[in-house]
Amino acid sequence: MKILILGGGQLARMLALSAHPLNVKTVCIDPNKDACGGDVTQLIVSELDQIDAILPQLADVDAVTIETENIPVTTAQAFSKIKPFYPSIEALAITQDRMKEKTFVASLQIPTARFAAATTLDELQHAVEQFDLPVVVKTCRFGYDGKGQAVIRNANEVETVWRQLASDNLIVESFVNFTREVSLISVRDKAGNMVFYPLVENVHQEGILRSSTAPYQDAKLQQLAQDYAAKIMQKLNYVGVMTIEFFQVGEQLLVNEIAPRVHNSGHWTIEGAETSQFANHIRAIAGIPLGSTEPIGFSYMHNCIGDMPAMNGCMQIPGLYYHAYNKAPRDKRKVGHITIVAKDSKTLQDSKAELLKKI
Ligand code: AMP
Repeated sequence: MKILILGGGQLARMLALSAHPLNVKTVCIDPNKDACGGDVTQLIVSELDQIDAILPQLADVDAVTIETENIPVTTAQAFSKIKPFYPSIEALAITQDRMKEKTFVASLQIPTARFAAATTLDELQHAVEQFDLPVVVKTCRFGYDGKGQAVIRNANEVETVWRQLASDNLIVESFVNFTREVSLISVRDKAGNMVFYPLVENVHQEGILRSSTAPYQDAKLQQLAQDYAAKIMQKLNYVGVMTIEFFQVGEQLLVNEIAPRVHNSGHWTIEGAETSQFANHIRAIAGIPLGSTEPIGFSYMHNCIGDMPAMNGCMQIPGLYYHAYNKAPRDKRKVGHITIVAKDSKTLQDSKAELLKKI
């Protein structure tokens, strides 16, 4: 079995690492010759849409998957004509466009923030007048880690935000005063079997995920999140890992975003769950039975943004796992992550405090 991964960043790297012991081969494609997936698996350096040129290298590929949703649907369709494409073309088309995604979620009677499309300055103005301020304005496509979004707190900021985002494909959302942010990682195999990881509590700053703590134990919310995820995956005939980011408001969950792939808020599963999200994605595609999603104790995942903390100091903390992606340091860039796994939440808090002193 050999899986082609479209994209060669850290998610491709961790997918490749988890495929290896399952005797599943991987190859990734990325236009960047330094893409960090290339450290651990075969990397084809190419634009993704140059399929004819790379075709000879794909002869032994059995299936295609993605590590990013920012792949043109036409490119994904072209790959799907050669080999089975996972999670599904429809899942990619919907989740790469925030307006399509929210419309789809709402059509399943799953709650979201209020939202409206804005393709002109007038429409933006109109949407802002309809909603109470503040509102969050986001580009429908290619936004990530807080890029391509702005908050309007005052009616006179509309034009500035319109110019700043410089897009005629925007979504306006009511600002949610959430209790907390949580995410759910789910997996569905080709036979339709589904497994769910425990909810994770996430902390974002400037739109970038800073840390995740798992499990977030709330049986009612867990069931609600799983019901929503099951509905979405079944509707999309989904195969592989899917992530939903939620805003928790009291006892309600509002869907903020769906990622059709393994996700940063699931990195703790590498050491903190019986089967990692990466291994389960590979299993789903390769037709290997899905693995247990049970947590092993309590986990804290800290994103290393900009640069990595010195390794030796961190490694003295028991239960700590250091993941450097071999990416050049750069402001606001995710260059690695650190996970601490502990047998109880008190030990986890102590180790986390120790880590935070060192970084
Ligand atoms: P996103 O790119 O949609 O995942 O947004 C990044 C982060 O911005 C979220 O994790 C929230 O912390 C914040 N955010 C996004 N949309 C909203 C909203 N409608 N209301 C409040 N905060 C938001």
